[in-house]
Amino acid sequence: MNIYVLLKRTFDTEEKITISGGRINEDEAEFIINPYDEYAVEEAIQVRDTHGGEVTVVSVGTEEAEKQLRTALAMGADKAVLINVEDDVEDGDQFSTSKILAEFLKDKEADLIIGGNVAIDGGSGQVGPRVADQLDIPYVTTITKLEINEGAVTVTRDVEGDSEVIKTSLPVLVTAQQGLNEPRYPSLPGIMKAKKKPLEELELDDLDLEEEDVEAKTKTIEVYLPPQKEAGKVLSGDLSDQVKELVNLLHTEAKVI
Ligand SMILES: Cc1cc2nc3c(=O)[nH]c(=O)nc-3n(C[C@H](O)[C@H](O)[C@H](O)COP(=O)(O)OP(=O)(O)OC[C@H]3O[C@@H](n4cnc5c(N)ncnc54)[C@H](O)[C@@H]3O)c2cc1C
Repeated sequence: MNIYVLLKRTFDTEEKITISGGRINEDEAEFIINPYDEYAVEEAIQVRDTHGGEVTVVSVGTEEAEKQLRTALAMGADKAVLINVEDDVEDGDQFSTSKILAEFLKDKEADLIIGGNVAIDGGSGQVGPRVADQLDIPYVTTITKLEINEGAVTVTRDVEGDSEVIKTSLPVLVTAQQGLNEPRYPSLPGIMKAKKKPLEELELDDLDLEEEDVEAKTKTIEVYLPPQKEAGKVLSGDLSDQVKELVNLLHTEAKVI
């Protein structure tokens, strides 16, 4: 089975994030594999181990994404491809990224493409469906279970806490939701082996794309942090007085009643 994983390098939202000049301050951020893409890598490895074939991890970004691709190789992926757009795309958006990925994938005869359901930074959840649409193959998002039997595919997807079972067929693109599996940590032998695994680097030119073909369709106007949370108010005294004060505060301060 020819399996591809779409992997994004993202900043770690568990770490402190600062903004300068309307952009996330990258010098102070920690970078990781988008957590949903770790589920995608794990699932791809498990499918390959069951059905045979090869797992290729692909990322659109700058050469810094090499680190995250090497981590995926250390987990057990076979090959990695970095589409380095550093010199060609300055302000990419979901259109740019999916166009580049689809152009790369169009002649690869992929049976299965797995992405994360959302990137924890950009957070649009658009890239997977856009890639599938351009490749003209079916897609199922936010999956928590994947079963493949010959060419038939049964997918369970998370729908706001409920589950939906969908039948489809290969080739297909799916996007991973938390609960799909438990991503493995790279082992020491895995890390050693990853150093020798192929990591190919491509540029827009290699995909026969010009800068204007991938020009963003959207523009980010402003990026800002959420307002600081104010301290809560604890009411005290007699219960009926507390209720009166609460109603008063909801009316005069919160202005919600
Ligand atoms: C060169 C470049 C310049 C950019 N410049 C800006 C900028 O100036 N301002 C700004 O706000 N944003 C910028 N971005 C980020 C970009 O707008 C989006 O973050 C990106 O297109 C993905 O959208 P998303 O984060 O909403 O991903 P989602 O659609 O939420 O991601 C879902 C899944 O799609 C896949 N995926 C997403 N991105 C990639 C990727 N790059 N490679 C491989 N798979 C991927 C992953 O599987 C991921 O889990 C830039 C991106 C690039 C590559």
